[in-house]
Amino acid sequence: MADCIFCKIAAKEIPSTPVYEDDTVIAFKDLEPQAPVHVLIIPKKHIRSLLGLTEEDKAVIAHIHVDVVGRLARELGIAEKGFRLVANTGEEGGQTVGHLHFHLLGGRSMAWPPG
Ligand code: IMP
Repeated sequence: MADCIFCKIAAKEIPSTPVYEDDTVIAFKDLEPQAPVHVLIIPKKHIRSLLGLTEEDKAVIAHIHVDVVGRLARELGIAEKGFRLVANTGEEGGQTVGHLHFHLLGGRSMAWPPG
C-alpha cells in the first residue's frame, strides 16, 4: 500500500532494524521502545488490523504465533521470564499505524491493566 510506513519497511524503502525476516513476515525494533526488548512483528502483506483479516491470512497469522514469536522470544532472551504480545486495534485500542502488527515486549515486569 502506497502510504503505509510498515509496507515501506517491509519493502526496504525506509530503514529499520530487522531482527527476523522470511517470505511473509518481518520483525524489526520499535522506534520508541517501551521495554528493554520491543519489536514489531508484521505480515509483509498489507492488512489494516486484526479486523482486516480474511481466510487467506490464516497461514501467516498461525506462522507468526507458532513459529516466529517463540523463536524471537528465545533469541532476544525474554522467553524464560516471560513477555507480552499485543495487537492494538482501532482508535480506542491505541492503534496508530494502520498495518497489522504485533508488539513483542519483554525485559521488565509488565503492569496490568495496561494504560
Ligand atoms: P501502535 O500504536 O500499536 O499502532 O504501534 C505502532 C508502533 O510503531 C509504535 O510503537 C511506534 O513507536 C512504532 N513505529 C512507528 N514508526 C516506526 C518506524 O518507522 N520504525 C519502527 N517503529 C515504528
